[in-house]
Amino acid sequence: MEKICVAVRVRPPVSDESSTGTFWKVDDNRISLHRSHGTPISGVSYAFDHVFDETCSNAMVYEILTKDIIRAALEGFNGTAFAYGQTSSGKTFTMNGSERDPGIIQRAVEEIFERIQMMSDREFLIRVSYMEIYNEEINDLFAVENQKLQIHESLERGIFVAGLREEIVNNAKQVLKLLESGEANRHFGETNMNTRSSRSHTIFRMVIESKGKDISSSGDCPSSDAIRVSVLNLVDLAGSERVAKTGAGGVRLKEGKHINKSLMALGNVINKLSDGAKNRGHIPYRDSKLTRILQPALGGNAKTSIICTIAPEEIHVEETKGTLQFASRAK
Ligand code: ADP
Ligand code: MG
Repeated sequence: MEKICVAVRVRPPVSDESSTGTFWKVDDNRISLHRSHGTPISGVSYAFDHVFDETCSNAMVYEILTKDIIRAALEGFNGTAFAYGQTSSGKTFTMNGSERDPGIIQRAVEEIFERIQMMSDREFLIRVSYMEIYNEEINDLFAVENQKLQIHESLERGIFVAGLREEIVNNAKQVLKLLESGEANRHFGETNMNTRSSRSHTIFRMVIESKGKDISSSGDCPSSDAIRVSVLNLVDLAGSERVAKTGAGGVRLKEGKHINKSLMALGNVINKLSDGAKNRGHIPYRDSKLTRILQPALGGNAKTSIICTIAPEEIHVEETKGTLQFASRAK
């Protein structure tokens, strides 16, 4: 079992409201809450595999958290990278990036195609899909008509989303264009938090299949690693904020309940996985669509990293503590 890599990223402050009481301080791989005059607040200090402060770029985050997952995926290992955190903490910035500093998805796609070019002894077939889970319903972001898709399981295919469109792709540009069109189909909803907050989980998936080029000509039996298939998931989770805070009712409340349910399920699965093989017992993948879809790429030999994004502002301190507690449980 691979250890799950857990990191925290602090985004830059968006407003320069001066803090009156507390601030978060990053020290190497530790983050702690301090009083404004500098003394640490006891009990509010957490250590992770990595803590990225506000000066860290997506390039650095990619290098440290995702590069190994991408390389392993080309060798046949499944992998998943998540962004977890409250709305406006920087999940989408981390995954999608900006023009100046492309996010993890673009960097992963580009590296995969670059490396494929260099692996001239193998032939690759790359398929991509893009889906969202909104109110525990799976929708296809590449084909708006594909809504409420079901999860199936078969001997041949393992766990899969029936009817999800998979596009065969040959270069990074093609993938980025597909993602752009898919992006337009994401569900957004206004909340009282003054942000366009994303209420759905999105999963960008690449299936990487490859086989050695020179196995048939000689007539020899292909070696056992002749064909490799791996699945790579890059996941932008829905905002983790508690429902009550958004002051929502009706539709928003329903969304919030589903989001909290699947994030809790994800937390439970990851917590069990990181418990170690011995006292792990049953892993509750079936408790949510999110964990069920990701099951093959979570646990076992899969490589997993979680980046928990936090907002530095004092008004967010309670949500930030919640995020850091989630991150701590994942270690
Ligand atoms: P989320 O997806 O978690 O709701 P966003 O990624 O949309 O949050 O981030 C909220 C705002 O903060 C956006 O305007 C985004 O560009 C900005 N932002 C987030 N993280 C960073 C960062 N590390 N550096 C610069 N700007 C950031
Ligand atoms: Mg977002």
